[in-house]
Amino acid sequence: MDLASRLADVDARISDAARAAGRDPSEITRIVVTKFHPASLIDELYALGVRDVGENRQQELTEKVREIGARDGLTWHFIGQAQTNKARAVRAAASVVHSVDRSRLAEALDTAADDGAAPLDVLLQVNLTTDAGRGGVEPAALASLAEHVAGCPSLRVRGVMGVAPLDEEPASAFARLRASSDELARIIPGATWISAGMTADFVEAIDAGATHLRIGSAITGPRPARG
Ligand SMILES: *Cc1c(COP(=O)(O)O)cnc(C)c1O
Repeated sequence: MDLASRLADVDARISDAARAAGRDPSEITRIVVTKFHPASLIDELYALGVRDVGENRQQELTEKVREIGARDGLTWHFIGQAQTNKARAVRAAASVVHSVDRSRLAEALDTAADDGAAPLDVLLQVNLTTDAGRGGVEPAALASLAEHVAGCPSLRVRGVMGVAPLDEEPASAFARLRASSDELARIIPGATWISAGMTADFVEAIDAGATHLRIGSAITGPRPARG
């Protein structure tokens, strides 16, 4: 299958899963994760109508934004772990940051705003694994992080993000993310986005209420080795 057919195939599976879950497919944003692929792939995807792309490394994101330049309606999502000292570069390149998991990172993104800058949409990444060393705030600490980030004037908290662990059924991990989402929405009304679901588990994520899917290889094909 070529790129266009893989994209159409994934979109059909998303629509089927949404309808099976009693949801409207149009309320789901499909982000194509383009990491490790050349910027030319984003050009091809854009020509096919893709308007949301995701990158997980700041340097790669910055380079691709420079190569691709401004494109009508194209939204860059940053989905990887961010170092505090890269916050300014992340903010300059991305419109949505999915991986805010600590106050210091939120503060660094907040102070990186230029005067009069549009607010930056952020999601709070929740750790769904039992390994505290993985990215994401522990679910028990989500509320205090949310209150802190809500106090950052140039950030707009939109919801939660999670990655299902490899050693657990995705459905049960996403059910916990859904509970975190409900908790966040009680603290910040309107912060209802749920970024969840990758190539292997986007159907389960849609069942659990995901609003933003981050899908890479099912659409792009296998990733080239990291350079
Ligand atoms: C790479 C990546 C994805 C996409 O993974 P696929 O399995 O290729 O769909 C999604 N989310 C994050 C955080 C990633 O780093």
